[in-house]
Amino acid sequence: MGSVGAKEVPVLLSPDGKRIDGRKLDELRSMRIVAGALHQADGSAFVEWGANKVMAAVYGPREVHPRHLQQNNKAIVQCKYNMAAFSVDERKRPGLDRRSQEISKVIAEAFESVIFVEEFPRTSIDIYIEVLQANAGTRCAGVVAASVALADAGIPMVDLLPAVAVGKVAGKIALDLKKEEDNFGEADLPMALVPQSGRLVLLQMEGHMTGPELSESLDLGVVGCRAIYEKMKQALRDRYQLGGPSEGAAQ
Ligand code: ADP
Repeated sequence: MGSVGAKEVPVLLSPDGKRIDGRKLDELRSMRIVAGALHQADGSAFVEWGANKVMAAVYGPREVHPRHLQQNNKAIVQCKYNMAAFSVDERKRPGLDRRSQEISKVIAEAFESVIFVEEFPRTSIDIYIEVLQANAGTRCAGVVAASVALADAGIPMVDLLPAVAVGKVAGKIALDLKKEEDNFGEADLPMALVPQSGRLVLLQMEGHMTGPELSESLDLGVVGCRAIYEKMKQALRDRYQLGGPSEGAAQ
C-alpha cells in the first residue's frame, strides 16, 4: 500500500501484471444475467456483474406521461436510473441527484438510437434501472440489464446493446474496472456498442488518456462488448427455450 495524503492507495497492478482482484488486463468480471426476473413488468432482467447487482424493468409502448412529451411520429424513450441508498458502503443520499439524471439521459439516448421508435408513435417506452449493489460500471450493467429487459418485452430493436467500461489503471489500459480501479485509476471510459454495425451509442470519459491509449481502450471495449453480447443472447435463449424465467429467477 502506498499513500497519498490521508488516503491509502491500493496496489492496482502487481509486478506480474495481475489486477487487484487477480484479473488480467483484458479480463471481464464474472457476469450472470437473468431475463424475465420480474412478473409485473412487460420485460425485465437482473444482472450480477462482479459485485454489482442491477435490476431493470421495461414498460411499453404505453401512453405518454406527462402528456406534453408525446411525439406524433415516434415513441419517446424514458429512463430512470437509480442507485439504492443501501447500494454503496458510504451512505448515499437517496433520490434523484445530478449523476443519476445524467446517467438516465445518456442511457435513454443510447436506446432511442437502437429501438425502432417510429413504429410506435405517440407512445412511451419506459426503462427503470435500480442499482441494488454498486461496485463501478453500474451504468454499463444498467444498459446490459435494460437491453435484455427490452428484448424480453418484445420491443423491436436493431440489436442488443452490450456495454462495458474500460480504463487506465497504473498506466495500463484495463477492461471492466472495479471500484478501487475506478477510484484510484487514471481514467474511466464507459461505452455501449451496437455489435452488428460496430456503432458506439454511448461513450463517456473521466480522467486522462493519450490518443493511442484512447484508441487501445476502444478496441478493448469492443472485444469486451462482444463477449458480453454472447452472454446477453444466452440469457434470452435460456428464458425462451425453457418457457419461463431463466435459471435463478424467483417465481
Ligand atoms: P459507474 O457506476 O457507471 O461506474 P461512476 O463512475 O459515477 O459510475 O461511479 C463509480 C462507482 O462509485 C459506483 O459504481 C459506485 O460504486 C460509487 N458511487 C457512485 N456514486 C456514489 C455515491 N453517491 N455514494 C457512494 N458511492 C458512489
